[in-house]
Amino acid sequence: MLFEDLGLAPELARAVAEQGYTQPTPIQSQAIPVVMRGGDVMAAAQTGTGKTAGFTLPLLHRLSAGERARSNQVRALVLTPTRELAAQVFDNVQSYSQHLPMRHSVVFGGVKINPQMMRLRGGADILVATPGRLLDLFNQRAIKFDRLEALVLDEADRMLDMGFIHDIKKILRILPAKRQNLLFSATFSPEIRALAKGLVNDPVEIDVSPRNTTTETVRQKLHPVDKARKPALLSHLIRENNWHQALVFSRTKHGANRLVKQLESGKISAAAIHGNKSQNARTKALADFKSGKVQILVATDIAARGIDIDQLPQVVNFDLPNVPEDYVHRIGRTGRAGARGQAVSLVSADEIKQLRDIEKLINKQIEREEIEGFEPDHQLPESGGKAGRGAQVRRDGAPRKKPSSRRNGSGGNNAGNRSGSGEGRQGNRSERSEGRGNQQARGERSDKNTRSSSNGNRNGNRQDGNRAGGSEQRSRPRRPRRSETA
Ligand code: AMP
Repeated sequence: MLFEDLGLAPELARAVAEQGYTQPTPIQSQAIPVVMRGGDVMAAAQTGTGKTAGFTLPLLHRLSAGERARSNQVRALVLTPTRELAAQVFDNVQSYSQHLPMRHSVVFGGVKINPQMMRLRGGADILVATPGRLLDLFNQRAIKFDRLEALVLDEADRMLDMGFIHDIKKILRILPAKRQNLLFSATFSPEIRALAKGLVNDPVEIDVSPRNTTTETVRQKLHPVDKARKPALLSHLIRENNWHQALVFSRTKHGANRLVKQLESGKISAAAIHGNKSQNARTKALADFKSGKVQILVATDIAARGIDIDQLPQVVNFDLPNVPEDYVHRIGRTGRAGARGQAVSLVSADEIKQLRDIEKLINKQIEREEIEGFEPDHQLPESGGKAGRGAQVRRDGAPRKKPSSRRNGSGGNNAGNRSGSGEGRQGNRSERSEGRGNQQARGERSDKNTRSSSNGNRNGNRQDGNRAGGSEQRSRPRRPRRSETA
């Protein structure tokens, strides 16, 4: 199928051609005709599948036929979990609609609300928003939904993970009942199906990302290494392989900051992107990374969700995520649109549980390769399955050495928590708990009603992370599930 077969408005077809797209991706060829007809859609599609154009193009097609939004009106609302994703979707909306006389806007927390209110005065044919800020703006009468035609929930699974369910329910109550609904999620979990029940009407279900599969165009391998030696190994790999644009995942915000300092001290240009950074700092880090000014971008899982860079060649898991699905999301950042990418994980003995969970989820054993000079003292235990033994090779072809007893005489297995820096899984507890109970996990904060935030901070976490925008926090109990926030 070609894009021209879809019958999009000529202005949109032109914009698509200017992007260099000729063929719609599977999600696009399935979703676009349904959305153009005004139908509801429930789609399982991850970032990297072209889902944004899958809903943006047909929405623009429909909206271009109607009357433009007047002051404070919104005709289509796209909700996203994070500011990065909101900015990214907005960029897409802008480029696809560049030949149409339409006006769009984006709003998210962590930045001043007034400029957003000013812009909304002109109305928005499409408004891209994070939930908390949207509610604030609505409560301040900056947005009218009386002419709303369509609602998109983008990355709905992540919205639920981040505790947005109450905000979403509030938003659904203030929208007109008669509207088109599009729900995009990486997976159709039972929670997503429950949400969909009250949202989409007789939807066309599309599934382009079968759960738990990792893209075939991504080469995955792992390097067993002691925890304390991970920064040195990363620097070594960057230099030896000449990685010019690598996205490095860190489970924690502090870990990301620390790693950037360590890389910089070795004269490798790096920047961190996570929820404790101001929006401006995040935007700058991303722009510098895209332009090549910064070689290595260190990101937490949630902050990375909005990063959209074509054909990112290299993804590194500096540590493994606690939630195995995040591994799939992480490596999905490379090998897009048929391009070949590589995902490398640095794995220490104490991460064996995470590794086993990931391999179970993706139903395959990740190739192991020890790097000469970085062979671990604390051996990474076998992860089971058929590839278990014998899957571990050393780069120089030598057989794996015996566990060394140099440091603790224990023979290594299960000794990971005591390794090197003394920050094994247990040692990381303070960092790990920093995130999920913290309101910054939501990628934005509300500007009202939030001075006392002890509820939302039930892990006793610091809350000074994201003050750049001068806004406060909304308190809300929430399921602490993940180790890290953005
Ligand atoms: P998304 O899944 O929406 O984040 O899109 C992932 C990437 O695919 C973005 O960089 C898009 O610019 C790109 N893309 C979207 N549609 C197409 C297409 N039909 N052909 C080639 N690339 C595309």
